[in-house]
Amino acid sequence: VIIELINTGSELMLGRVLNTHQQWLCRQLADRGYLVTRQIAVDDSATAIRQAVQDAMARADIVLVTGGLGPTSDDRTRDLIAELLGRSLREDPSVVAHIEGFFAGRKRPMPARTRVQALVPEGAQVLPNAHGTAPGLVLDLPSRRAGERPGLLILLPGPPRELRPMFTDQVVPLLSKQFPVAEPFVCHTLRTVGLGESLVEEKIADSLQRLVEAGLDIGYCARPGEVDVRLSARGGDAASTVAEAERLSRELLGDLVFGVEEEELETVVVRLLTARGQTVALAESCTGGLIAHRLTNVPGASVVLRAGLVVYSNVAKEIFLGVHAQTLAEHGAVSEAVAREMAEGARARTGADYAIAVTGIAGPGGGSVAKPVGTVWIALSTSRGTAAHHRVNPWDRETFKYVTSQQALDLLRQELSH
Ligand code: ATP
Ligand code: MG
Repeated sequence: VIIELINTGSELMLGRVLNTHQQWLCRQLADRGYLVTRQIAVDDSATAIRQAVQDAMARADIVLVTGGLGPTSDDRTRDLIAELLGRSLREDPSVVAHIEGFFAGRKRPMPARTRVQALVPEGAQVLPNAHGTAPGLVLDLPSRRAGERPGLLILLPGPPRELRPMFTDQVVPLLSKQFPVAEPFVCHTLRTVGLGESLVEEKIADSLQRLVEAGLDIGYCARPGEVDVRLSARGGDAASTVAEAERLSRELLGDLVFGVEEEELETVVVRLLTARGQTVALAESCTGGLIAHRLTNVPGASVVLRAGLVVYSNVAKEIFLGVHAQTLAEHGAVSEAVAREMAEGARARTGADYAIAVTGIAGPGGGSVAKPVGTVWIALSTSRGTAAHHRVNPWDRETFKYVTSQQALDLLRQELSH
């Protein structure tokens, strides 16, 4: 199956929006055994969109087009496609009703322009939009050669929170039905934290070599503070090959594996705390609330997160956590002693089962020979005592904060998994 992806939007070409659809859709398809052979981003002009769609239709069985289904004058995709395929547009009453209901439910007047989103090219299948007004559209493409199966042109709305569920819930089933993957395909991703990608590879590559020769494909994807190991195979033995690879990898990587597929570290931490009926409090200096932000992104966090304190200044560490002025003066804010007092203070004052404290030097200024930029102390306080850990994360501020939050969450995860 030849699949091509076209992302439309002048905002992409102006660098105002990162083309996350490209990554997300390719990833979703790849994990299901489909490969995108070509991807292009174009601006909102009629010529660019027309040209891109025409080119893709000449090569591909499936053409995916994102964006430009909205109500504004720069949303041209629907009209252009109808014109290109020689189909007339008709208003779909069920879409009109959906749009009216959408605005009524929000107690807002329905702008007249919104109605164009109910125009559907003749013969197109409508993909209802559960999170917005513009439906997705699926059109049959003429066969490229006599005797070949007709292709599909699939139009999806631009906003990610509309596109993603529509793709997963409606497009994927459609593809599996009309273009089933020829051979069985199995793909599993193990998510690891704590080691760089070459060290992760070093731990597993030799032992998996035998399976690689039998058709296993291993991919490593490194991001700040984490490495994904993607194990996949095709053919009759795919399931057993991947299962064996996963078993071996888990054995060799042990505790480094925190989750599978798209699971995030914060999700795992919330789940482990919930299962134990326990709570955590945070005392964040250099991460500025990022750990709290990540935990509160997880539904159900309110049950496990007692408090998240951003204690950036020395005085805040004293007032809110009871860190001693003398400790600060003697050891400095970025020190093992202060990290310990922060964690213990947070735990004592909130009554949480666990408290995590982080204090560090994000840079670019403020470093010294003894405490270079990137120095971090992370303390975890539990009913069994307090442990402090030293880390050096010499990255830009944003990466520094993320990696530090990752290390802090991982200390708690390790504590909760034993
Ligand atoms: P709308 O009804 O909001 O106008 P639309 O289907 O017309 O939706 P666009 O106007 O192209 O879609 O994009 C709407 C918003 O969706 C953009 O402002 C952008 O934030 C986001 N978006 C669009 N394309 C992408 C993309 N390729 N990657 C990430 N976000 C995108
Ligand atoms: Mg738009």
